[in-house]
Amino acid sequence: MNSEIGINPAGGATNTTPRTAAEIAENMLGSIDWISSTMGYCECPGKKMHGSKDGTRDCAVYLDRVPTLSCFHGSCKSAVDAANKRLRAAILNPTNDADFVPRKITHEEREKLVAREKNNRLQLRARKALPTILKKYRWTSAGMLNDSPVNVRENEADHWKLLLAKFEPDDVIWIGERESSGRPENAVNFKTVSEWVKREYAPHTFVCPATFKNTSCSRSNDNVVERRFVIVESDLLTRDEVGAVFRYLIECGMKLVAVVDTAGKSLHGWFEYPGDEALDELRLLLPALKCDPKMLTASQPARLPGAMRGEKRQKLIFLTAEEVEITK
Ligand SMILES: [Zn+2]
Repeated sequence: MNSEIGINPAGGATNTTPRTAAEIAENMLGSIDWISSTMGYCECPGKKMHGSKDGTRDCAVYLDRVPTLSCFHGSCKSAVDAANKRLRAAILNPTNDADFVPRKITHEEREKLVAREKNNRLQLRARKALPTILKKYRWTSAGMLNDSPVNVRENEADHWKLLLAKFEPDDVIWIGERESSGRPENAVNFKTVSEWVKREYAPHTFVCPATFKNTSCSRSNDNVVERRFVIVESDLLTRDEVGAVFRYLIECGMKLVAVVDTAGKSLHGWFEYPGDEALDELRLLLPALKCDPKMLTASQPARLPGAMRGEKRQKLIFLTAEEVEITK
């Protein structure tokens, strides 16, 4: 089975007797749905003890560090603990050496396991909650336009100025095309907000949600001075579905500043930067909510409203009225 999926984390040849950690795990736990070379989901060995309904991804197997089985349910703990003992013995002592003494898990390893389990539970909870979130917080793109505190139905060509007003006037921001970065001549793509807004039209197609050093010519993370916003986007949810995630994040305490219609298939939710710790949680949460964590990078270019994308205009469909408070 393993040779078919090409998982071979512990190395070694595949033959009829299980030799790799993945093979040993599958031999013991049954088929494993591998997510990476060292992590997958299996049927919980204590499934019978689950009180609530089973999901297919309730029980995770990790083969990096200390081989570990971790189930979302609590009722199966005794079965999971027993399976962990057998799994570790089988992987760490495959020859069943009588003198084998299992190495004690270090304090650091223990803490990492606990943190991983917590993160795993957070993701599972979000993944399970998504259908409910999509229903309960439903917010279509037409609904956003209706609910927008600032009327953004007109003067779409000026929308970029409305978004830039959410920065501080002295903030140095990057506006450009995707490739306008990294060469000395790209210094012109970094200007203060008050300089940019003197232009009549949207200068380029993209903007970054962070501020830069005024000497930058590259929008690398090293040149970022301050993160003002994070952008939430989904390639998997439709324009009428992703709003539910925006509203759910508002419910979780995040502040939505603007929603940009990218003139493609997706919408961008611009949120106030929530702080580094909350950002780590978002990185975990967003994939479970079918959103794209790559947009959370400070220097990731995003569509500037007001600019054209082919025949269509990128535009705001939601904008908060009050000035964004920025504490320095
Ligand atoms: Zn279980």
